[in-house]
Amino acid sequence: MAEQLRFDGQVVVVTGAGGGLGKAYCLFFGSRGASVVVNDLGASFKGEGNSTKAADVVVNEIKAAGGKAVANYDSVENGDKIIETAIKEFGRIDILINNAGILRDISFKNMKDEDWDLIFKVHVKGSYKTARAAWPYFRKQKFGRVINTASAAGLFGNFGQANYSAAKLGMVGFTETLAKEGLKYNIISNVIAPIAASRMTETVMPPDLLALMKPEWVVPLVAVLVHKNNTSETGSIFEVGGGHVAKLRWERSSGLLLKADESYTPGAIIKKWDQVTDFSNPQYPTGPNDFLALLEESLKLGPNDP
Ligand code: NAD
Repeated sequence: MAEQLRFDGQVVVVTGAGGGLGKAYCLFFGSRGASVVVNDLGASFKGEGNSTKAADVVVNEIKAAGGKAVANYDSVENGDKIIETAIKEFGRIDILINNAGILRDISFKNMKDEDWDLIFKVHVKGSYKTARAAWPYFRKQKFGRVINTASAAGLFGNFGQANYSAAKLGMVGFTETLAKEGLKYNIISNVIAPIAASRMTETVMPPDLLALMKPEWVVPLVAVLVHKNNTSETGSIFEVGGGHVAKLRWERSSGLLLKADESYTPGAIIKKWDQVTDFSNPQYPTGPNDFLALLEESLKLGPNDP
């Protein structure tokens, strides 16, 4: 039987943890030996209002089960204050789960600056603020684990979610860079596109499907990725929900190289369009240097016939 993953002596910060996925993470880590900072400002799913109740309920549940937890009610826009709570109450920070989120769905035609800005403040700035505040601690102790939260809407686009999609794909680039900068210090960062029944999804999915997608089914993957035994899976994107876990990656067609002279015209590209979009011999780039290496390699071989 597989050994139970434990998090004894570690401190986990979960943002937006008053319900849905965040609550499920907190209950899990609280039951596996970690001290948990339960952050939630108690807003509506559109980001309106605030209340201490959401976080308090989760803290009480963890404590009642014999675990250690403290509430924090700051907005992730002030993420440094959330990390401060971890340091003040528990003296360290080991694992950061950037989970807080809101929606401001509206067709792009009708989108206003405030719909765009609020989404970016919560998802992008919020994840930056917490990670930035945790980073010096992670580097110093040569240990840190970060989970950022993307969405299928970010990876593929979705009607009415131009703001949310842009912010959520932002989480991917953010994670990929944190993974690169953190590797030397054993700071591991991954990003998930979850799917789960929560107040965010309960109005857009049928009840029988929702019943299969408990937030609890997203937790095991997150636990594996943030555990101290994971020292190599970093900068990766996962889709997870309802018992299904899959990794996604970038794919590039083998492409077309034309001589970069006056013959390199729009018409020359159109003529070879099939080659630009041919994925029969794909590459899987993982960094900006891959493209430069590819160019060097192609230059050695010489360009394709125009
Ligand atoms: P949820 O609404 O139940 O949870 C989000 C929590 O974030 C709420 O408790 C809310 O109060 C809190 N929050 C909102 N703004 C905050 C702020 N400024 N500071 C602190 N807390 C704040 O929704 P959920 O489905 O559990 O979503 C969790 C995360 O997963 C979100 O980032 C969401 O975008 C993402 N996500 C969820 C799904 C899904 O299927 N449920 C799909 C894709 C992505």
